[in-house]
Amino acid sequence: MNFYESYVIKLQNRIKKIDENPDPTKLRSNRIRYEIELEMAKDQLEGWKQGKPFSDGGSLQAGILVRAMGFIPAGGVNPAFQTNSAQKYLDQARSKGLPVDKTCDMSMIPFTMMEMGDVPMETVAVCDHHCCTPMMLRGIYVAHNSDTFTYFIDRSYEEDEANLKYVVDQMKDFIRVCEEKFPGVIKYDENRLIELQKNEEEYRKYSREVHKLLMHKPSPVSGRGSGGSPTFFGATKLDVEYAKVWLEEMQERVNKGISGIAGGEKMRMMWSGITNPAFMDPYKVMAKWGIAVFRGGTRWNYEDKWNRKLSPLEKVAARAISDHRAGRGSDYMNDIIEDAKELGVDAIINYNMRGCTAALGLRRVIEERVEKELGIPILQLDGAQWDMSYADEPTITARLDEFAQMCLSNKGLA
Ligand code: SF4
Repeated sequence: MNFYESYVIKLQNRIKKIDENPDPTKLRSNRIRYEIELEMAKDQLEGWKQGKPFSDGGSLQAGILVRAMGFIPAGGVNPAFQTNSAQKYLDQARSKGLPVDKTCDMSMIPFTMMEMGDVPMETVAVCDHHCCTPMMLRGIYVAHNSDTFTYFIDRSYEEDEANLKYVVDQMKDFIRVCEEKFPGVIKYDENRLIELQKNEEEYRKYSREVHKLLMHKPSPVSGRGSGGSPTFFGATKLDVEYAKVWLEEMQERVNKGISGIAGGEKMRMMWSGITNPAFMDPYKVMAKWGIAVFRGGTRWNYEDKWNRKLSPLEKVAARAISDHRAGRGSDYMNDIIEDAKELGVDAIINYNMRGCTAALGLRRVIEERVEKELGIPILQLDGAQWDMSYADEPTITARLDEFAQMCLSNKGLA
């Protein structure tokens, strides 16, 4: 069974279980999250059977654009989060001499899944030098070791009109090249792009409303349900439906005074640093101490800084050149600081993903800014995504426990 086949069965079983035995303590919106994943996995499976071209468009660079061109998304890093066989893929990458133990293991898994035939090889890949160096190196490796056609998108660091035009011109050329390569199959549909962008904007609006509800004490939710997008782009109608129900549920919980922490919220913290370990639930570790944890830095308002209305393609380019996590990373840092202030967090946990140039490049900067602008403690937590040889569950749990005890004791709450 390939990845999509087993994932479809897993999701169908989860939905069946919810329908047959609904748990009133669980969020109703969770079911919609599974439906979103199921819809996508079925499309991917069908597209693969029919031999349709796959592309993730470099995920956050042109991911929304390739969907509007008719490509099927391979799923970016999502299959790497959902697989039960991470170790198998890491071993395969190791056997090829790739630096699994020195770099971001998450960047190793998607293309190894492709090489092993568990998901289709991307037909067209977009490679670029955004914040994630491991993913760019992965793109170069794939370009040399597969039939994947790789298109490189160059971008400068300045977020100005000249750079915007420079990237838009490359996107237009990317569209031309792909339409020529796949005549009658790949065709840029601007109305489809507008529709996807509208959905994404709506999703973000709901998400900001949920953020406002998290300011309420106790917070109606903690951990994974506190932010982020269910799929990579939050751009389908079902994503918007999910966000709407999610907001309604959060409002309901606030009205009823329901806390995201079973025993009551003693303290709140923010989780920063792009990702978290996938082999454990770090938020549960903090919940046992009565600490609510929120994901920070998820605003990504890359459009707001342009003093004019952007065209659909310009919006794609504006995201690609966004300073968020890339460049100086100042947008991402500003988001973290603003979110932390608004939510009134007592401390920050910064997850330093091994080999992640974006996270590690900002490690020192976040520490200095948090100390200077917020005056609260910060835990620099080291780990990987799946590889437990670097920091396993007991090691990470011990560090979180120690930090929780110290913060509670400093506030006289221990
Ligand atoms: S965690 Fe960092 S290095 Fe890994 S894929 Fe994400 S941005 Fe890239």
